Amino acid sequence: MPIASAIYPGSFDPITYGHIDIIRRAKKLFDRLIIAIVANPNKTPLFSASERVAITQKALVEEGLPCVEVTSYAGLLIEVAKEMSVEAIVRGLRANSDFDYEFQMALTNRDLDPAIETVFFMTAGRYSFLSSSMVKEVKRLGGGVSSFVPKSVEEALARKFTAG
Ligand code: ADP
Repeated sequence: MPIASAIYPGSFDPITYGHIDIIRRAKKLFDRLIIAIVANPNKTPLFSASERVAITQKALVEEGLPCVEVTSYAGLLIEVAKEMSVEAIVRGLRANSDFDYEFQMALTNRDLDPAIETVFFMTAGRYSFLSSSMVKEVKRLGGGVSSFVPKSVEEALARKFTAG
C-alpha cells in the first residue's frame, strides 16, 4: 500500500526556511501533508496558536506550497494522527543534537500506535544551524532575518516586537 498522507507536528514559532525545506522534501513522498501546530509547546511560545497557524498559512502561500494543510492541536499527537487517518509522522533532523529526543519520541509514538510510522528528513546543509529560537533572538536584537524566514514571517516578527 503506498503511503499517502502524513502529519508534520511542531511548535512552528515561527516557521523558518528549515521547516519549509522539510515540507518540500515530504511533499515529494506524501500526497497529503498536514502541518500540525502544537497549541501549548513545552517552551512558552512567542506567537499564540492561532497566530502561528495564520503565519504558517501565509508563508506557505508565499513559498508556492498552498496545498499543504495547516491545523493546530492540543493533547496527544498520536490521537490526532489517528483522527486524521494519516500513515506517517514527519520530523526533520538537523544535527546529532536532534537525534536523542527524536528517537525517544518516535519509539514512544510507535508503542502508542505501531501502525503509524515516523519518517525523518535530513535538512539541507545550509539550514542545519537554523532554529525558530535563533530567528527570534536575532530579530529581537534588531538584526535582519530575511535569509532564514519568508518576508511575511519577518513582518510578523517585526510587528510582535514593536507591539512589545
Ligand atoms: P518542536 O518544538 O516540536 O521541536 P519545532 O517547530 O522546533 O518544533 O520543529 C519541528 C520539527 O522540525 C522538528 O522535527 C525539528 O527537528 C524540525 N526542524 C526545525 N528546524 C529545522 C531545520 N532548520 N531543518 C530541519 N528540520 C528542522
